[in-house]
Amino acid sequence: MINPILIRSDFPILSRTVNGVPLVYFDNAATTQKPTSVIDALSNYYLTINSNVHRGVHRLSMEATEEFEKARISVAKFINAKSSRSIVWTRNTTESINLVAHSWAKKNISKGDKIVVSQLEHHSNLVPWQQIAMERDAQLVIIPISDEGVLDLSNIDVLLDSSTKLLAITHISNALGTINPVKDLISLARKHDAFVLVDGAQSAPHLPIDVQDLDCDFFVFSGHKMLGPTGIGVLYTKEEILLDMDPFLTGGEMVMQVWDQKASWNDLPMKFEAGTPNIADVIAFGSAISYLENLGMDNVRKHEIDLTKYALEALSKIDGLNLLGPCDTNNQAGVISFDISSIHPHDVGTFLDQRGIAIRTGHHCSMPLMHRLNLPATARASFYIYNTFEEVDKLVDSIVGAIEFFGK
Ligand code: PLP
Repeated sequence: MINPILIRSDFPILSRTVNGVPLVYFDNAATTQKPTSVIDALSNYYLTINSNVHRGVHRLSMEATEEFEKARISVAKFINAKSSRSIVWTRNTTESINLVAHSWAKKNISKGDKIVVSQLEHHSNLVPWQQIAMERDAQLVIIPISDEGVLDLSNIDVLLDSSTKLLAITHISNALGTINPVKDLISLARKHDAFVLVDGAQSAPHLPIDVQDLDCDFFVFSGHKMLGPTGIGVLYTKEEILLDMDPFLTGGEMVMQVWDQKASWNDLPMKFEAGTPNIADVIAFGSAISYLENLGMDNVRKHEIDLTKYALEALSKIDGLNLLGPCDTNNQAGVISFDISSIHPHDVGTFLDQRGIAIRTGHHCSMPLMHRLNLPATARASFYIYNTFEEVDKLVDSIVGAIEFFGK
């Protein structure tokens, strides 16, 4: 069980004030706060073992390499990958998806093939596939959603058929919190020999993940959304697929032998990690993973279900507030999007900021979804391990205050 009061003492930023009142941080889907252990891991690297990895025979380089590779093993275990050779470090989810688009899709997608995505995608899991579809003369097919923001699978056998080469789907919508039935969709894709990429940017931080059980080919996520530093992302790929993929970037680190006119590629996963990697952030990300593992991902999910249920119940009673998304914690993560017809979301966000409450307002990098909902933007509160019921009360009271203020 999670005790957010205890957890908060590990997060120095949470004791600061904003506009003279204690900070309430509800923008966790954008990025999460960092515990002292992660901040310490970053500074300890620079204070004690700063050096380049993999190529040094001196003590500092050996220690840095050991810590760097330990983090890779931790991430592999965290998502139950068969081997850490399947874990490629990138800068973020966006870069991981671009790596797959460049190194896998260009080689495997041909004229007429289908790439299937959903109406819930973040631009990061849409724009690269638009580009590939245009370049390869492939079809980009979009799974529609219901008004509640849940995938409408009534026509899925037509959308996802034997001409499908790739299903690229978000596990959890960052804009609405919808949890997609990815396991069922992966089984269906398998029947048609399609490959599957799961965008786990919003799921790896909040749910237990088992990539072997999911049986996806690619799983991507970002460290900064799960207590880690910015600038570090993960691409998990089944090893046999990685072996067959061409490098993304070329240069140092990713080569085995180099001659005047050609080069051969390094072993996995280094073949996909050209240049000096983001060593400090990888090591600090390893600390973030340990922190989450100590809490237990089942406990993380349970805490978020409790907060979300509590918030949904209170928000549903506010006159003039329209809750978006499933409004059901069976298929909704700790993300609540809403719209107040009489107030622009940016005004809601600015009003809440005056009361120290950080929420997100805008299109959440999901413009096609906003078009589908017929809204320019929404207001979004997203929860994490350190959020409390009292903070949800403050959010609800402040929204009521905003409606009164702007209504006048
Ligand atoms: N996919 C989803 C579902 C997201 O929520 C985000 C970020 O909000 C991304 C992809 C992109 O993540 P990053 O900006 O870390 O690359």
